[in-house]
Amino acid sequence: MHLDADAFFVACEQARDPSLRGKKCAVGGTTRGIISSASYEARAAGVYTPMPTTKALQVCPDLVLIPHTPGLYGRVSRRMFDLCEMVTPQVERRSIDEGYLDVGPCGFGSQAELEASIRALDATIVAELGLSISWGLATNKLVAGIASKLRKPRAFVVVPPGEEAAFLAPLGVGRLPGIGAKTEPRLVAAGLRLVADLLVAPEARLRSFFGDGVAEILAMARGEDLSPVETVEWEAKSYSQQETFARDIADFGEIERVAKRMVDELVPKLRADRKCARTLTVKIRYPGMEDVSAGHSLPVASDLETDFYPLLAPLLRNAWRQRRPLRLVSVRLSQIEERARQLDLFDDGQKEKRRRLAAAVDALKQVKGGAAVTRGHQLADSGRSGARGSTTHGSV
Ligand SMILES: [Mg+2]
Repeated sequence: MHLDADAFFVACEQARDPSLRGKKCAVGGTTRGIISSASYEARAAGVYTPMPTTKALQVCPDLVLIPHTPGLYGRVSRRMFDLCEMVTPQVERRSIDEGYLDVGPCGFGSQAELEASIRALDATIVAELGLSISWGLATNKLVAGIASKLRKPRAFVVVPPGEEAAFLAPLGVGRLPGIGAKTEPRLVAAGLRLVADLLVAPEARLRSFFGDGVAEILAMARGEDLSPVETVEWEAKSYSQQETFARDIADFGEIERVAKRMVDELVPKLRADRKCARTLTVKIRYPGMEDVSAGHSLPVASDLETDFYPLLAPLLRNAWRQRRPLRLVSVRLSQIEERARQLDLFDDGQKEKRRRLAAAVDALKQVKGGAAVTRGHQLADSGRSGARGSTTHGSV
């Protein structure tokens, strides 16, 4: 099963304030922000996501704009997935409002029994959380994911075993997850409009669009997908790094620089894993194994270095009260969440810019090696010596 909550942030707000129901409303930044979720009534009036708030108010002047409520969406999301776990323990929380349920191992006697169980779960989610959910049921994640999105909102689309390819064939190529907003128009212009068109196209032609990914795209077009529902215990994960100094350090600037470099190394790992972290904890150690730590949580989980930098100096100052020379510094990112793309849209666009910059730097480092790009604050650190050992525990 794939479940996808309809207009999730708006639905959370409507559940909190029923007077918003049935209205043209949207959650988004109020001044220079971006619409991150729009009610279906607002969508009918031309509001979509992501759209700049100013533009949304132009196309829909009576739009009720709701500022984002910190904490609310994460709380509702956790409860939604907890309810899913009453049907099956195999729940993959793909994002804040989407997930996969593996109902295979649950021992349902028949298709009807399974569907009844999902409909009961849907009714519970509606009653308790006031959400509306679209469901897709299929033999694999790929087809279930496409099915749930086909007739939103409040859809329940079942693709019987063996009918995966027939189900996909009449759909537009853009429905396949591998085909994005850039590739789709190019394919359509080349006469490859439907998934079925891909299956009969000459391979050389497909190669000009997909390169070495042709086999993968064709497998998708046939509705084949073997990826398992991944129920990672992501909440228990953390990303941490520590450094033991050869000589004890008593210079705050140097300590801060070391901690910043750890943030610079840990945060790209978060991004590579498509995760965000809420809590930053620094730990210092005086000679003699005496540890002191201090931590702080962001209101919303992040995967950007720039969100964590401002926390470092105050946390280090808090922890390093005695001002005696230090033996070790460590940085830990915890309260790890799946990256929820929507959460990025709540700001004035700066964050999106930073994310694009971060993605470009990550890509450059992959091609040219880790030393290819250096943040300015690390330049003073480049002649650093005396590090005795630096240990990285990736995702634990
Ligand atoms: Mg959704």
